Amino acid sequence: SKSEGRNKLRVFDPATLHARQLQRQIVGELREAIRSDQLVLNYQPIVELATGRIEGCEALVRWNHPVHGLIMPDQFIPVAEATGLIAELGRWVLRTAVGQLRQWRDNPATSQHDFSMRINVSAADLQSLEFVDDVSEALAEESLSPESLVLELTESAIIQNNELDRYTLASLHRLGVGLEIDDFGAGYSSMGYLRKLPVDRVKVDRQFVKDLGKDPSQLVFLAAIQDVIRSCGLEGVWEGIETAEEAEALRSIGCASGQGYYFGRPLPEAGFTEQLTRLRTW
Ligand code: C2E
Ligand code: CA
Ligand code: CA
Ligand code: CA
Repeated sequence: SKSEGRNKLRVFDPATLHARQLQRQIVGELREAIRSDQLVLNYQPIVELATGRIEGCEALVRWNHPVHGLIMPDQFIPVAEATGLIAELGRWVLRTAVGQLRQWRDNPATSQHDFSMRINVSAADLQSLEFVDDVSEALAEESLSPESLVLELTESAIIQNNELDRYTLASLHRLGVGLEIDDFGAGYSSMGYLRKLPVDRVKVDRQFVKDLGKDPSQLVFLAAIQDVIRSCGLEGVWEGIETAEEAEALRSIGCASGQGYYFGRPLPEAGFTEQLTRLRTW
């Protein structure tokens, strides 16, 4: 529900616990959480700005902790990445998200929507030799075409520039799954690599849309980013759209796709299913 997103309790506060002790506590409990169904995925729509059609949804993981309640990913993904538990977590996310998409396609109440599933992939996943097989097996098991899945990778994950990463990216590209750079502009932002990588989409970091609210003259700057993305032959996705004005401004400069609270907050399976069954255009 809506209150869940706002209720970001800091359960594991690094300021109050020694870092190592903290990490041990989270790792032990998280390993158990993956196995005992304490993780849940929420889904947030990605909308085609020109038509209001839902073209995708992003799966975002949460931890439903038996004692502490709902824990947001920023609090446990970094620990999972630092300890190698991310591989197991990533496999769980992949299988759950792909299985969910199959259910929505099979459900007569939602099957008219033809959208793809987006999942977040961490740098460690690209380092795993089995990752490409995991992806292709998960899709085959649910009889889904590779285009049904888009993998979101951050700039830092994607430009580590070692041979295994490049090999994995090329293999995923050959498999036919969508590849998207996430949080574009948040970190490195070297434009140079955009043309060299086998990616299809760029999701622009939400800081840019946020600044637009404060200063509408920023729109010229956003249009320039949009032009760079397009001139590289890529599609732009704009995240963090919270108001109708922001959506309209982005549409006016020709941005293709958007995501944000304005279109819908991340919702658990039941809530997102309901959103799909309601006919709504933005
Ligand atoms: P992200 O991939 O950049 O995901 C977008 C985040 O922005 C989500 O936070 C989402 O709830 C939030 N958001 C969406 N629309 C709006 C908006 O209009 N305004 C604002 N202010 N925020 C918005 P969330 O769910 O807390 O996820 C945080 C990060 O955790 C994600 O950032 C992603 O990097 C990571 N993450 C989430 N799920 C997974 C996962 O399954 N695997 C991995 N490896 N990382 C994940
Ligand atoms: Ca993402
Ligand atoms: Ca992002
Ligand atoms: Ca992020």
